[in-house]
Amino acid sequence: MQAISNIFSEFNTPKKVIITMHQKPDGDAMGSTLGLYHFLLQFGHTVTVISPTNWAAFIQWMPGVKTVIDYDQKPDIANELINNADWLFCLDFNTLSRTKNMEVALSAATGQRILIDHHREPQEEKFAYGISDTSKSSTCEMVYDLITQSGNADKINDNIAQCLYAGVMTDTGSFRFPSTTASVHKMVAHLKDLGLAHAPIHEALFDNNSENRLRFLGNVLLNNMEVFYEYNTAIITVTQADLIKFDIKTGDTEGLVNFPLGIEGIKFASIIIDRGEERKCSFRSKGDFDVNTFARTYFNGGGHFNAAGGATTNSLEIAKQDFKNAMLANKDKLSTYTF
Ligand code: 5GP
Ligand code: MN
Repeated sequence: MQAISNIFSEFNTPKKVIITMHQKPDGDAMGSTLGLYHFLLQFGHTVTVISPTNWAAFIQWMPGVKTVIDYDQKPDIANELINNADWLFCLDFNTLSRTKNMEVALSAATGQRILIDHHREPQEEKFAYGISDTSKSSTCEMVYDLITQSGNADKINDNIAQCLYAGVMTDTGSFRFPSTTASVHKMVAHLKDLGLAHAPIHEALFDNNSENRLRFLGNVLLNNMEVFYEYNTAIITVTQADLIKFDIKTGDTEGLVNFPLGIEGIKFASIIIDRGEERKCSFRSKGDFDVNTFARTYFNGGGHFNAAGGATTNSLEIAKQDFKNAMLANKDKLSTYTF
């Protein structure tokens, strides 16, 4: 993988471009791809954003989101765009398997794959150009860096500012995680200087719950959360029956895993959701417990040091037992609480 700066001189030569992200995109995945979309459009490129799957309703306000193709819904159109693309930007993921059903087409593409990502252990051999930086708060911050470092800060318009702000804000937990560096605040200050209205973005993302979602949250915290104080750990499990009962949609479970971390002393939180075809897991930690390694070792996943995910085909009950066994295997690290 060569440095991404090698493509800067090519920005002015119109190309066929697709931009994609990980399945079930979050604010950073959709914000960074659409931010880059609004940037590249200004050079006369033909640009299409493709999501491997559908996305949460709380993302639906983003400028440009209505042009995004859902691969699961329109595989034929998407495959043609992928096959014909000169550049295939891969944002907010670093292993092609994170694009689910799109993986085959993306692997076979003859254009150049370009990585912009901040997760651990990238598949560098799969990308012609790219940047992988785990110290970055978000892929949105990396798209901002790409725009400014390529000498194009004057191209940051309100659409770009809104998309990039949404991703950097959500991936930093509203500017609270340790990844919130001075550069993050400088970027936001720059976007504010350009006229960004940040308050409507917070409202669009956080004040749009359905009544069902809040009742689901209450139900889960009351009935489906187990706390292991000895190991500073908590786990939430969500059954398919509850997903159906509360009419839970893509995105409605986002952020649930953070609630147990708010319990005094808890440094490791997990959620396992029965999605039917698989049990999807999320892991969050505070301080020195490495959930990227935990997810890779026990749940075929990965991510960041303090936020990671994975999946298993075992039943919910067995997955929960697997989690408890894995917790016990890590009890020395978990019971010594330093952060
Ligand atoms: P979340 O728990 O919010 O789905 O994801 C937390 C972090 O872990 C995100 O940065 C996400 O990209 C990553 N992640 C989630 N699930 C998986 C997975 O199955 N495999 C890998 N490699 N990373 C994941
Ligand atoms: Mn991200």
